[in-house]
Amino acid sequence: MSVKIDLKTWGNFIGGEWIFSSSGKTKPDLNPANTDEILGYFQESSLEDVNKAVDAAKKAFPEWKRAPVPERGKRLLKTMQILEQRKEELAQALNREEGKSLNEAIGEVLKSLNVLDFFAGEGKRFYGETIPSELPKNFIYTKREPLGVVALITPWNFPVSIPIWKMAAALICGNTVVLKPSSLTPWTAMILMEIFQESGFPKGVVNCITGSGAMIGDALVKHPEVKAISFTGSTEIGRKLQALAGQRGKPIQLEMGGKNAVIVLKDADLDLAASAAALGALGSTGQRCTATSRMIVEEPVLEAFTKKISEKAKQMAENMGPCVDENQLKKVLSYIDSGKKEGGKLVCGGHRMTEEKHAKGYYVEPTIFAEVTPEMTIAKEEIFGPVLSIIPAKNFKDALKIANEVEYGLSASIFTQDAEKIFEFIDEIDVGMVHINSATIGGEAQVPFGGMKNSGMGGREMGRQALDFFTEWKSVYVDYTGSSRKTSFY
Ligand code: NAD
Repeated sequence: MSVKIDLKTWGNFIGGEWIFSSSGKTKPDLNPANTDEILGYFQESSLEDVNKAVDAAKKAFPEWKRAPVPERGKRLLKTMQILEQRKEELAQALNREEGKSLNEAIGEVLKSLNVLDFFAGEGKRFYGETIPSELPKNFIYTKREPLGVVALITPWNFPVSIPIWKMAAALICGNTVVLKPSSLTPWTAMILMEIFQESGFPKGVVNCITGSGAMIGDALVKHPEVKAISFTGSTEIGRKLQALAGQRGKPIQLEMGGKNAVIVLKDADLDLAASAAALGALGSTGQRCTATSRMIVEEPVLEAFTKKISEKAKQMAENMGPCVDENQLKKVLSYIDSGKKEGGKLVCGGHRMTEEKHAKGYYVEPTIFAEVTPEMTIAKEEIFGPVLSIIPAKNFKDALKIANEVEYGLSASIFTQDAEKIFEFIDEIDVGMVHINSATIGGEAQVPFGGMKNSGMGGREMGRQALDFFTEWKSVYVDYTGSSRKTSFY
């Protein structure tokens, strides 16, 4: 059943149409800074909706696969232009739906523009290789082929840029997509669908369904016509989906949690390190996969560094955004509790903020624990909130050991002037993204993004490497000797 969209109740976007779920159910989307504000109602999709979306994507695949790759790039360029025109509106929706500041929201939209620009350009660089043959008059080359229908399952913390970077990479390669955004951020996803619709993609190339992660996410992975899954979210859910995909022999790309460390050595510029730590740990309310969660500080500068970062954290309290929802708030507060119980020394923050403008939102003070040891829960588990642990280290080697001792391996940074230690750090740290004298956050469109260990697997996103997950290689042997010769030496 096709329906006219009204601002309050959004349909799913399937086969180029806005369609209400067969479940007949919707769910309100709340502003985490003011839970009295409802931003819209979104479909609680059913299995039937999943099937419809996959069918639409399957139907659209043959034509999209055959479209010349530069033409696919032009669609992405058009998407970029429309996104540019709607950037303020989208940033405001992002600010109200996810809770990040308007500046951060604009930053996320700008990043998405860069991503579209980059992948549109890949349409003109969709190269294979020519490879010399062992045989005379034989020409060998390779070409990329799309996989088919791919499912994209995304989190709430970058609800614009993560769907964009998955969709742009999948689409330029000639796949058709079904996006399942986080149930906490359906509004921004559906604005993106409007933008893709306006960009002139053929019907069914891009589809989006909202609703329960457990139901839709699992159903997409299990659907026989879904050929691959790209997931970003928690390690717990990622591993579960990996098992489901593995049983069905499907490729799955996983971008998961982090416990990112910054090492501060005794020769570091402490002001620079404190500014980067504040930005990395407390910016975006600590709700970034690349957020700094552990500061590993050489003992001679421990006290001076702790003082500087605590001052910065206190200054940030006023402008701190909310946690995304009540569950996230409770999770962050329970980690603060465990930090206290396990012997961390609370040097700043540690409470929910409930006064005045914070009264109706899920706000937590910027929180810093000193005297944390690597065994404590707050030093090991991903918190995903504005909580930073300072861990003392005896020397560089000790700091490196502590930094590598966690299950995650997404990003890390070091502050020092010592070139030898910088390069040893680059060689020895087990993470996918390394920063030198800068914060652990950020990533540029043309650079591979992702982590090692329990932070990621299945290949990198962004950069040219992103194409590897969304394509198969086809090797082509062309024999141009004519009929008179044998076909092989063997
Ligand atoms: P999440 O794992 O709860 O949810 C991610 C997605 O999976 C959502 O769309 C959700 O609806 C869906 N989902 C939830 N339960 C499911 C289930 N049982 N089966 C199938 N799908 C299910 O993660 P989140 O809370 O939305 O996001 C925060 C997490 O994402 C953090 O761990 C963060 O580190 C991680 N993250 C990682 C990266 C990266 O690139 N490595 C980037 C951003 C966020």
